[in-house]
Amino acid sequence: MTPRRALETTNEETHILAKNTLAPDELGPTVCVGEILVEIVATTIGDGFLEAQPLVGPYPSGAPAIFTDQCGKFGGNAAIIGAVGNDDFGRVNLDRLTQDGCDVSAVAIDPELPTGSAFVRYREDGSRDFLYNIATSAAARFSWSEEVYSLSARAGHLHVMGSALSIPSAWPVIEKTLELVKSRGGTLSLDPNLRKELKYDAKTEDRFARLVDAADLLLPSGEELELAAGVDGEDNAVKRLFERGVKEIVLKRGSAGATCFRPDGDPINDPSFEIKILDPTGAGDCFGGAYVACRRIGLTISEALTYSCAAGARNVSVRGPMEGAGTRSELDTFIKTTRRLN
Ligand code: ATP
Ligand code: MG
Repeated sequence: MTPRRALETTNEETHILAKNTLAPDELGPTVCVGEILVEIVATTIGDGFLEAQPLVGPYPSGAPAIFTDQCGKFGGNAAIIGAVGNDDFGRVNLDRLTQDGCDVSAVAIDPELPTGSAFVRYREDGSRDFLYNIATSAAARFSWSEEVYSLSARAGHLHVMGSALSIPSAWPVIEKTLELVKSRGGTLSLDPNLRKELKYDAKTEDRFARLVDAADLLLPSGEELELAAGVDGEDNAVKRLFERGVKEIVLKRGSAGATCFRPDGDPINDPSFEIKILDPTGAGDCFGGAYVACRRIGLTISEALTYSCAAGARNVSVRGPMEGAGTRSELDTFIKTTRRLN
């Protein structure tokens, strides 16, 4: 398979590529289920949080929240299911999501537990130290409710972040929402968001495999492609996933951009943009939010790849996990004014 650049797509191909893998936006919102957090970022590079140090935040965060925010901000029909505490950290999230056009009607406000949080500090080598309060926060305590039912029953697409599978209360909600969405002709996308070096329990592995089998679109990054397929090698993994019924795979390659694989044509590459890296957290989530929004409003794969690479890159160049998410017009400006890496 010889990849080529997205911008080389001809008009005829553009027409074929427009045939959509995902249910159109008119069917109902893209719904994402999972953790809503605030993130507090250390402004100095180093190891951990053992000494008093300068911090900045709270920033709205959590992979599902970042995805939803970018999807809604781009102009997609977007909603989130989760919970926050009755506190300022919760309001920071609800205000941002609402301001960016997302439906938060199915976000519960927990009367007891605080909003989930994550402290992050970058180490010298670019890796991160995280200090989380998720398991004992509102982020991990939500369940099926009238509001969740009402949203799920009119949703057109479900996006699942693999990270949400480690929250026990998320699975029953994901399962029921998926059933409702698929029963009305809706679609599923999955960002594996899992790490090869972590061992997941058998239940999580089984749930993950069921999601892969039901997914229309897969958005892995790096080794997650092979992890999702359960086989080694990029070509083998792609082949295996198409056999399992996935219809479109977009592999995120960090500063090397992204590649879209489809069962009926050559892969399409999109190079990344040249930016100054300030805070890589959230790049993949912004990429996914933009990609799903683009595809559901009917843009071609190549257009969707360009906007998504721009969304990921723009977010990396701004401090805070979703501070760099962009509107369509902000991304148009970014694309026009930012150099491509190759
Ligand atoms: P995360 O680290 O948030 O989990 P991810 O691993 O899922 O992200 P990445 O491949 O790191 O996904 O980033 C998603 C997209 O964002 C990339 O495909 C690329 O288009 C863009 N991107 C990420 N990092 C950079 C970078 N340093 N320079 C330019 N673009 C980038
Ligand atoms: Mg990454």
